[in-house]
Amino acid sequence: MITGGRLGARAVIVGAGIAGLAAAAALASFFETVEVWDKDELPRGPRPRKGIPQDLQVHILLKGGELGLERLIPGTRAALLQAGATEVRQSRDVSIWERDSWQATRDLGYSQLMMSRPALEFMLRQQVLKLGNVAIRDRSPVEVLPSDADLTVIATGRGDRLLAGIEVPETMLGLEVNYSSARFAKPACFRGEGRFIACIPKPPDDRYGLVCPVENDEWLITLSSRFDNRVPDDLEGFRAYAAALPVPDIAERLREAVPLTPVHRYRIAEARWRHYDRAAGLPPRVLPIGDCISNFNPTFGQGMSVAAGHAVALRDVLAETSDLDAIAAVYLPRAAEVSRQAWSLAAMADLEYPRTVGERPARFEQMVQGSEAMRRAAVMHPEVHLLRFEIGNLLKPDSAVRSGPAARLVVREMARAGR
Ligand SMILES: Cc1cc2nc3c(=O)[nH]c(=O)nc-3n(C[C@H](O)[C@H](O)[C@H](O)COP(=O)(O)OP(=O)(O)OC[C@H]3O[C@@H](n4cnc5c(N)ncnc54)[C@H](O)[C@@H]3O)c2cc1C
Repeated sequence: MITGGRLGARAVIVGAGIAGLAAAAALASFFETVEVWDKDELPRGPRPRKGIPQDLQVHILLKGGELGLERLIPGTRAALLQAGATEVRQSRDVSIWERDSWQATRDLGYSQLMMSRPALEFMLRQQVLKLGNVAIRDRSPVEVLPSDADLTVIATGRGDRLLAGIEVPETMLGLEVNYSSARFAKPACFRGEGRFIACIPKPPDDRYGLVCPVENDEWLITLSSRFDNRVPDDLEGFRAYAAALPVPDIAERLREAVPLTPVHRYRIAEARWRHYDRAAGLPPRVLPIGDCISNFNPTFGQGMSVAAGHAVALRDVLAETSDLDAIAAVYLPRAAEVSRQAWSLAAMADLEYPRTVGERPARFEQMVQGSEAMRRAAVMHPEVHLLRFEIGNLLKPDSAVRSGPAARLVVREMARAGR
């Protein structure tokens, strides 16, 4: 049990999604009470809910996000495993077809946890409530910013309305990504298999498929497309779409899998990054977090981990200060740096699709060649493979690619390809 209060009596968080829960953990040791308000009725078990319409789709927790949550609430990893998360060893339990080849299989020394979003969120709610001074108030929509809290955190996600009126510079990508997912019971021959499979063909081919092993020894399978291409939502069409992917592994698993849910669709029209660190209009002692600041093409599995990264940044800033009015000026740039790395990784891949609307950097072609060289070098060299995993999982800054032995191997691969 935490007894906070060094910085104030009462903090309010609007939104009990991953960002709101992570923020509650960040604030708990600094305020006497932390209240998390959500408009939804929050289920008393691992069940989907209305306020998170994306929660029926695959939700990958990157290793950086898992470690962030563990730092905020020690014991979270063990609690997720206890609740049935599948432990996936990188990359022994992983098959990723990327562009035109399989990624190498070798032990990178990390394992990741996979479970459905409703199960993850339910467990995180239990973890946060164990802190003792956090109260979660559901069925409590907030229409105007609270005026009676010492600190207010806005965690209302994509499409936030509470801060929407504030003029903030934005970076945007027009994406049109179409997700379709369903949950399946495994046929006998695959029971107990904890393999994560991804098929990501080379742009402009915009098809994409994922098999994610989740709790109860089930699969959550996502197929996706971009723009006018649509994944069928009838089972036969879903199976046929998987069968047309460049590798058979997803179709093989779908062939005798027993559907436990209908195919649910979700369309993501854009990715948006609101640069609050460059805006002056935020009310005092009001801080945004998570998707409110930056939301991404979910294909790269970053949103929840970025939210955890924002919360860790917030906790670190609170630990360094005794002045609540000074927090925004320090927190917002740190949160922006967490968003920046995720944004640049995702935007790089998104902008390779010619129909993506967004500003392409001047040296975009060279950047694509650099990232291709790194991908190829990762197949051959374990140290590049590891670095690529660590950067993609938000464990290391992307600047790590510019120095050290792995960087030299990437440069050598670029030179070889250029010959
Ligand atoms: C199709 C899809 C797939 C995704 N896959 C992944 C993935 O693989 N990995 C990953 O890390 N991320 C993924 N994401 C992103 C992920 O869902 C979000 O980044 C993550 O949920 C963090 O968001 P958040 O907590 O900021 O907002 P949300 O999760 O959207 O939560 C916002 C909360 O605020 C509440 N709320 C909103 N307005 C009000 C109000 N006025 N008053 C009270 N409560 C309010 C809502 O009910 C909700 O509970 C995916 C997203 C989509 C769309």
